[in-house]
Amino acid sequence: MKILCYGTLAVEEPYARAWGKDHDVQVDLTSQPLSSATVEQAKGYDGVSTKGIVPVTADVYAALEKFGIKQIAIRQVGVDNQDVAAASQHGITLTNVASYSPRAIAEMGVTQAMSLLRHVGIYQDRMKKGDFTWDASTISTEIFNCTVGLIGAGHIGSATAQIYSALGAKVLTYDPAYDAAMEPFTTYTDKDTILREADIISLHTPLLPSTKNMIDAAAFKKMKPNAILINMSRGELVDTAALINALKTKQIAGAGLDTLANEVTFFTQKKPYTDTPQDFQELNAMPNVIITPHVAFFTKLAVKNGLEIALNDAQTIIAGKHSRHAVN
Ligand code: NAD
Repeated sequence: MKILCYGTLAVEEPYARAWGKDHDVQVDLTSQPLSSATVEQAKGYDGVSTKGIVPVTADVYAALEKFGIKQIAIRQVGVDNQDVAAASQHGITLTNVASYSPRAIAEMGVTQAMSLLRHVGIYQDRMKKGDFTWDASTISTEIFNCTVGLIGAGHIGSATAQIYSALGAKVLTYDPAYDAAMEPFTTYTDKDTILREADIISLHTPLLPSTKNMIDAAAFKKMKPNAILINMSRGELVDTAALINALKTKQIAGAGLDTLANEVTFFTQKKPYTDTPQDFQELNAMPNVIITPHVAFFTKLAVKNGLEIALNDAQTIIAGKHSRHAVN
């Protein structure tokens, strides 16, 4: 059996080699993501795996079908860059790794929120300019006196609830899917209550037509002036222009962002700063904003689990069996 792993990170290589040896499967690696431009490389393979946010379009599934490939094992949670209906039409089963380490993403969200809560970026900015003062504008609140509002509480949202709850915060959750296991850590409520009452608002929904721009100008108007918005999910959940306006007009106090709506044009690349999008530069210049390049997942455990679970799925589907991680 031969599997081609697209979009492979250098840190995945040792796990891929070890998995191939243990399962007697030839695993070849390329750093390029699966796309129209790279799909020809899959010719001669029994299966493929990929990772990343580059759009995978119908012509890619058609080419895989032509090569006799029946699956794509996606080494991540999000499948919003895939055309699931087109994949089905071409007999391609998509699998994702719904839970490789929810804690990894949850911890990055909490890290950014705590840093913003204590105005670390503002102090660092001042100190670089020789200003070692503090004043009423940077007085903080301890986390156990904060209300945290989670929008979306699946794998990552529930891991986030557990951390904030352990830190003593009051945790509110809005998720149409109720989970009794969350009861010790949170109180379920509606989205408007979260927008109105939370000091930290943390987004953990997938990107869907129903969640796109769910945080827009109207949502920012409902938030408290001390509110911190955390988005570890997908940039498109937030209307970026409305976010910039809310920060500029002090409708909210800060934002922690691991994802941006236009990140596909520059995240994971090296390019001159002046060539990056204007809205990114504007946000990145604000000391009360933290932006990381979609790395909340990037821990050793998450990388190992993501790779091994995906390759197990690839092998299962190539063998004609069903995987419980099938998306379609
Ligand atoms: P999940 O499917 O386990 O949970 C998503 C939850 O969102 C579900 O409970 C669902 O009911 C809820 N939901 C759906 N629509 C909603 C709405 N309109 N309002 C409120 N809740 C709603 O997913 P997960 O594993 O927790 O991951 C969440 C998202 O995080 C992924 O879809 C992905 O986009 C993102 N993610 C980011 C990174 C990163 O490195 N930054 C890594 C992994 C995942």
